[in-house]
Amino acid sequence: MTSNAFGFTTVADIFVEWGGSKQLGALLASRFDARRALLITDRGLIEAGLIEPVEKSLVAAGFNVTLFDQVVADPPESVVLGCADMAKTKQIDIVIGLGGGSSLDIAKLVAVLIANDQPLTEMYGIGNVKGNRLPLALVPTTAGTGSEVTNISIITTGETTKMGVVSRQLYGDFVLLDAELTVGLPQIHTAATGIDAMVHAIEAYTSKFKKNPLSDALAREALRLLSDNLIAACKDGTNRAAREKMLLGAMLAGQAFANSPVAAVHALAYPLGGHYHLPHGLTNALMLGPVLRYNAKVAAPLYAELADVMAVPGTGNVTARSDAFVAHMLTLMDESGAPRRLRDVKVTDNSLSMLAKDAMKQSRLLVNNPVEITEEDALTLYREAF
Ligand SMILES: [Zn+2]
Repeated sequence: MTSNAFGFTTVADIFVEWGGSKQLGALLASRFDARRALLITDRGLIEAGLIEPVEKSLVAAGFNVTLFDQVVADPPESVVLGCADMAKTKQIDIVIGLGGGSSLDIAKLVAVLIANDQPLTEMYGIGNVKGNRLPLALVPTTAGTGSEVTNISIITTGETTKMGVVSRQLYGDFVLLDAELTVGLPQIHTAATGIDAMVHAIEAYTSKFKKNPLSDALAREALRLLSDNLIAACKDGTNRAAREKMLLGAMLAGQAFANSPVAAVHALAYPLGGHYHLPHGLTNALMLGPVLRYNAKVAAPLYAELADVMAVPGTGNVTARSDAFVAHMLTLMDESGAPRRLRDVKVTDNSLSMLAKDAMKQSRLLVNNPVEITEEDALTLYREAF
């Protein structure tokens, strides 16, 4: 079979080292001339003692460090704009995002906002960012979003809607993977973020238009690493090998879906995050089962391939292997301890039609789904997840 034309972009400079964040200053000083650094993170990481050694290493390497620690989950526009305003008064010349997906997403946007006059409101959508950005380094502390290698930032606009900025400028210049930073992540967050990463790999692998050989290779290896290590990392957060493989797997999945975008699981998950302020990974875990079963009518051959990638036991035809893949994912989610029903996380029955209506706003994602999803279908899927 001949190949379709495809493009592939990722961060050019990636460094992986257990404990590497304690040398972040030296790692950055050898790569960038800039020395007035903005370090974007959240209070929880400061209280956990993760930021102080990083700050010390930056200062020791000659950086003047401004700390922004006001990142919150589901970050609203006001946090992004507040951070950018503060950075402008400090004449920042390099931005470092260190934290979960929210910290990294904000860092990516702030690096653009400081360097340009374009308003944030004009950046939503695909390819709408104009101009360049400041140097940008990203250090994830969860094995989940893959935000460190994607060109996407997700921001909560208004009360409940999540909007994405997708632009080439949001790819960072440098990524450090230090799995030691993920050791203290509680089991439920390890589970939810790990499942999110698996969803990235699965949705990239079945993406309707941009699926390509490079994203496929990354998604397969990501899924292998993540499925082999999710339960070990959940059971013992100090398991170094499992933590390292989860973080690597999450990044590979991020590289895959940055080029072959995610679809209906994410489209249906975002309204749950917006209305109920549930963590992103958890909302994906809640919607994964119903969407996999729904998509199987078209995606079964690909799910069967993924069953082999994950070494799911058994044999059989495509349908049997696809079913085995879906069943294996459900088992993994159960073993990880992630909640599985909407009602378990206090989603109410009477909100499902509103959620279905909201999900239709995620057309950027829905177009990538292997099977079309109408508002009625979305409602059926929420009901199934309830
Ligand atoms: Zn995700």
